[in-house]
Amino acid sequence: MRSLGVGVLAWVLVGCGRAPSPLYPALEGSIGMTHRGVLTGSMEIPEEGPGYRFLRDNDRHYATPRFAKALMRAAAQVEEQRPGAVLVFGDLSKAKGGTLMPHFSHRNGRDADLLLYATTLDGVPVASPNFIQYGPDGLAFDKKKKRFYRLDEEREWLLVKALIEDPEAHIQWIFVHRYVKARVIQWARASGESPELIARAFEVMWQPRSPGGLHDDHTHVRTTCTSEEVAHGCEPFGPVRAWLEGPLDAPPPPAEASDAELAAELSRPLQAAGVPARSAAAAP
Ligand SMILES: [Zn+2]
Repeated sequence: MRSLGVGVLAWVLVGCGRAPSPLYPALEGSIGMTHRGVLTGSMEIPEEGPGYRFLRDNDRHYATPRFAKALMRAAAQVEEQRPGAVLVFGDLSKAKGGTLMPHFSHRNGRDADLLLYATTLDGVPVASPNFIQYGPDGLAFDKKKKRFYRLDEEREWLLVKALIEDPEAHIQWIFVHRYVKARVIQWARASGESPELIARAFEVMWQPRSPGGLHDDHTHVRTTCTSEEVAHGCEPFGPVRAWLEGPLDAPPPPAEASDAELAAELSRPLQAAGVPARSAAAAP
């Protein structure tokens, strides 16, 4: 019993993680998981900026600096490419994270709700008035304003593209209804985007099951942890995206090789590298 007590005491002391050590590094930034975590050193996104504004003036405009900047960069990029509309931000996290009702996640600066880009029925870009639900026809009815809006697939795709192409954004998910996803992906295909990029978007855009709703009135963007963030307490979970470099995402980069070494490696016979010789029948 006594040794158990000592063990528990040791666990409590070490488990606090207050003293930095190689085994328990200082916790900072996005700590824990999105549904069970806190946030330190957060950044508040200003009320409005190039290509975006917030829907509400409240204390939920915080994220990790890396994610906050990535969101602002993406909004600015869309505006630069297609001026005339703004992206409306919903809830992110509170300055120190923690529970954020009514959300299940949004607890450690890695989640952002973004309203969908909208136009009038005539195609004039407008800021999304609120959380309005889009159907398979790409139309949403705003009960307050008593008018229809059209989903702006073009800007929505540019936003998705900006986010998933940004090496700093580390986007793991863009939760969104499958109707919206289908229309945005369809737009991307019609625009001649590369199959590789579309495949990436297809993987990241996902209609979640409850809790959290179907996301037919906004997207919920989540960034995963970088290797450095993991070292400071960020806990990644869920699928790993092959194109992201990170702790679980890719093997460490090889040590720098000289040109001569690379040339030798490239000229090495394939059989020596374990590649079976190709039979004549299989040759192209
Ligand atoms: Zn959300």
